[in-house]
Amino acid sequence: MKILIAFSVFLAAVFSHKTFVGDQVLRAHPKDNAQLNILRELEAMNHLQVDYWRSPSKPNLPVDMRVPNAVLQQVKIFLESNSIDYTIMIEDVQELLDQEQEQIKSAKFHERSTNSFSYTTYHTIEEIYRWIDSLVMDYPKLVSKIDIGQSYEGRPIYALKFSTGGNKPAIWIDTGIHSREWITQATGIWTAKKIASSYGVDSSLTDILDNMDIFLEIVTNPDGYAYTHSTNRMWRKTRSINVGSSCVGVDPNRNWNAGFGGPGSSSNPCGETYHGAYPHSEPEVNSIVDFILAHGNVKAMLTIHSYSQMLLFPYGYTNELAPDHEELMELAKQTATALASLHGTKYTYGTTIATIYQADGTTTDWAYNNGIKYSYTFELRDTGKYVFILPAEQIIPTAEETWLALMTIMEHVKDHPY
Ligand SMILES: [Zn+2]
Repeated sequence: MKILIAFSVFLAAVFSHKTFVGDQVLRAHPKDNAQLNILRELEAMNHLQVDYWRSPSKPNLPVDMRVPNAVLQQVKIFLESNSIDYTIMIEDVQELLDQEQEQIKSAKFHERSTNSFSYTTYHTIEEIYRWIDSLVMDYPKLVSKIDIGQSYEGRPIYALKFSTGGNKPAIWIDTGIHSREWITQATGIWTAKKIASSYGVDSSLTDILDNMDIFLEIVTNPDGYAYTHSTNRMWRKTRSINVGSSCVGVDPNRNWNAGFGGPGSSSNPCGETYHGAYPHSEPEVNSIVDFILAHGNVKAMLTIHSYSQMLLFPYGYTNELAPDHEELMELAKQTATALASLHGTKYTYGTTIATIYQADGTTTDWAYNNGIKYSYTFELRDTGKYVFILPAEQIIPTAEETWLALMTIMEHVKDHPY
């Protein structure tokens, strides 16, 4: 009996998924700077473990937070006593996660019976890595897998290279640097297949690949992604250990050497936007930096996040406008128009700091400051109904509309050599 109990305790420890039963996602509507500051104070109260999904930015821009069930009443009373309006976006986070798991289970069952890869469900890192190998086997003349480094926990970091030969000017695309943004890795998978299968078929994509190489990193935060499957679906950061803190992980989109450590990031290792001990401290970031600098001819860097339906470009760390501001703005407008043309999905666009909030140490600002003019951050679907738990039935529509956006940018880059 004792052994049995010990064994079940062991099993519980090994297979303990964090649950979110009764957690709600609240959207606060701050009216002025005073209310924004109160929301920032709430964000800093680490003991409450309120998880901000959209940080306080400016009056009338919503602030989204996942509030653990245990402190729900406390947080609601806090908001009400400060006259901050809020709405409940998600009644019970765990219910959505249970639905997500059900969908994955039935898709996997179908996959096994048909022996085919499903583009309409979410996959583990092991499944994605196996699929990458099969894509390379199916398109050996066009697609290769490049090992660009190792994650903190020792997982390989792969980029796919789409190339018709030689070393051409390149376009870099990454998905999943924030691990819980599952629609982005799923979009990356669909996009890789689309690129591979369109060469020689779609004249526009063919023209792009005859002139440029495309690199695509699908699982940009491997440890975080594995952790979202094994333990905590809502994990955003890397999984590195922070010296002197019990909190794990660094925000890999605050870790780049561009405005590093400013107020648009957290200096607290427990914060969701913790910038890390020093720039490029995270091997997941540093691998990309090394790769891109060694390549020396990357012309566009497109980093794909969710959610909010936004297209953002430099800068995030300063209000100063980039020298190429007008061109980047015009291209953003064309891109958003192309994206909306398929399913009517509306994006807002502009500089990071003006459109969403100040963000320091981001991918796109680093890219721009290192000579990569066409640097954009995508924030994919949606705007708040399902947030990070986008139903799998939206994977293909999201990927299809994003493809039109990517093509708009890639065509422009090809036509504007610099
Ligand atoms: Zn993100």
